[in-house]
Amino acid sequence: MIIDVHTHAPRYRTRAEADAAPAPAASAAPMRPDRPDPSRVTWDDYLEAMRPVDRTIVFNIAAQPPGDPFPPGLPIDGVVRSSDLARDVNDATAALVRAHPEKLIGFMSVHPRDPHVLDEMDRAVGDLGLRGIKLGPNYQNFDPLGEEASRVFARADKLGLPILMHQGTSPVQFADLDWAHPRHLDRVATRFPGLRLVIAHFAHPWQVDALAVIRKHPNVWADISALHYRPWSYYTSLRLAAEWSVLHKLLFGSDWPVATPQETIDAIPHVNDILEGTRLPRVPVDELMAAVHRDALDALGLD
Ligand SMILES: [Zn+2]
Repeated sequence: MIIDVHTHAPRYRTRAEADAAPAPAASAAPMRPDRPDPSRVTWDDYLEAMRPVDRTIVFNIAAQPPGDPFPPGLPIDGVVRSSDLARDVNDATAALVRAHPEKLIGFMSVHPRDPHVLDEMDRAVGDLGLRGIKLGPNYQNFDPLGEEASRVFARADKLGLPILMHQGTSPVQFADLDWAHPRHLDRVATRFPGLRLVIAHFAHPWQVDALAVIRKHPNVWADISALHYRPWSYYTSLRLAAEWSVLHKLLFGSDWPVATPQETIDAIPHVNDILEGTRLPRVPVDELMAAVHRDALDALGLD
């Protein structure tokens, strides 16, 4: 069984709808060094890319609420539409999941500074059947150690909702990068030891800090999404993960549409390719491949 714990919901249901949408603005910091950012992806594109995996966790990211005092992290063009707010993005995620309930598991997104955040969490669980939460302190411009975030963590803990957090670098200029630093999750996990957290992208390029956190907290994991196309960073972070005995705390994720599950799996046997001709220590490929088949649903309490 292969579970992709990190996929973004496609914005458009049909190709016609996608083609009619305006082209997104180019980012100053593209997600990948080797290709332009994906855009205008559809439900069919998603389902096609997910064929190699058995189950997927899928989500959107909620924009900041109206009147929020911080500059908007999302959308990147800075224009917040009602369709970007928590209620609408959660409805959109739920609609996709309802069409493919045997395969997809939907996570809600909420904004900690939304005055109705707890109501929306209850609605997303009770009415929509969403089973976890996606947050991005960089995209949503919030302090993970602030009081607002704390009430979201407390409610998630009470409801048994795992949280997948974007961690690490970000293209969002006016959101504090430090808020996406994984060291803060140490304090969150200390306060809520039963809360299941996933550090997205192993917090690239702060993997060494992320491994310090997943090493000490049984319920904190990291996903390997969006790493393989930076070969030195990929190798060094996984080699460090091996040396610190945390390879068993890694979960499989793709970050679709930025990368596909298949290319993420295919990259694993090549993690040591850059070592050819050197005596540098190798990443144990079998232990890394085990992340692909790890029971992430069990790890996240979603069985
Ligand atoms: Zn992502």
